Amino acid sequence: IYILGIESSCDDTSAAVLCNDRILSNVVADQRIHAEYGGVVPELASRAHQQNIVPVVHQALEKANITKEQLSAIAFTRGPGLMGSLLVGTSFAKSLAYGLGIPLIDVNHMQAHILAHFIDEDNHKKPLFPFLALTISGGHTQIVKVSHHFEMEVLGETIDDAVGEAYDKSGKVLGLGYPAGPEIDRRAQLGNPKAYKFTKPKVDGLKFSFSGLKTGILYFVQRETKANPNFVEENLNDICASIQYTIIGILMDKLKLAVKQTGIKHIAIGGGVSANSGIRKALKDAENKHGWTTYIPKFEYTTDNAAMIAIVGYLKYLKKDFSYFDVMATARLKI
Ligand code: ATP
Ligand code: FE
Repeated sequence: IYILGIESSCDDTSAAVLCNDRILSNVVADQRIHAEYGGVVPELASRAHQQNIVPVVHQALEKANITKEQLSAIAFTRGPGLMGSLLVGTSFAKSLAYGLGIPLIDVNHMQAHILAHFIDEDNHKKPLFPFLALTISGGHTQIVKVSHHFEMEVLGETIDDAVGEAYDKSGKVLGLGYPAGPEIDRRAQLGNPKAYKFTKPKVDGLKFSFSGLKTGILYFVQRETKANPNFVEENLNDICASIQYTIIGILMDKLKLAVKQTGIKHIAIGGGVSANSGIRKALKDAENKHGWTTYIPKFEYTTDNAAMIAIVGYLKYLKKDFSYFDVMATARLKI
């Protein structure tokens, strides 16, 4: 079975080809235009998707060394995401599936961030059910109980900013480029995580909150800069390390609570922030410390990519769970 996956929910245009659950190709065209605006500009994103989608799909097929006539089905991101961006992938997937006379399969982007773990890779174990998934990305922060591939229940999520946003907005305060997550992570590894202390939010149960932390960092930087105008430049690595230490602490506290509440000790992470070295190390440590079994995705399946869309397509294909051609892109789509 050959599945073509198409992802266009935000600012990455991506196409991937799977043969059963093995990746043959996974092409991602990221849109650098947004960097100078300090965030994704929706109109520019959808225009760039329109320019990228045909070449990206061509490349994915070429790399996989198959023709479009060999495809068994086409899977695409239906949502959640930016409407204009989603529309490009949705329309393209529909027309191609219709033209080829093959099934169309709609995919939930957040489910895909989790189900990326079911891509067959050497040296990667697939999660055993039931497991807890911590999805940490640019738009979401959730703890999900996964009882089966398509049996998912959100146990808790953020009431304001997502953790990726916390990284990007803190980065903005520090004068770093967009997205700032990878840069903060890189510097965090060179600094002292206990140099500065930021207060953790007080939110009940498995809910998350990150907007207070962002404001706390802003006030901290304003205060310190008043005393020393070069404060940020002189202490950037320590500041990044302290921010990362606080964020990872928040995530781990909630994971521990979720394990306590559910008794489930199998933990998977997914989404862009699962590329982060701090969360990866904290989870590895928890294997010995708390007896958890953890699942950490390959880097190329953390930020947005079509391989994760294609694997969900494959899992749905096996169930003959196909979409009608009147399926619509949905900006706010629940897991
Ligand atoms: P969503 O999946 O919620 O719709 P999205 O698709 O825009 O949002 P992703 O592409 O999954 O988000 O993740 C992007 C986010 O990941 C950005 O906020 C970026 O800063 C963050 N990120 C990427 N790498 C790292 C890293 N190493 N450390 C921390 N954050 C990171
Ligand atoms: Fe994403």
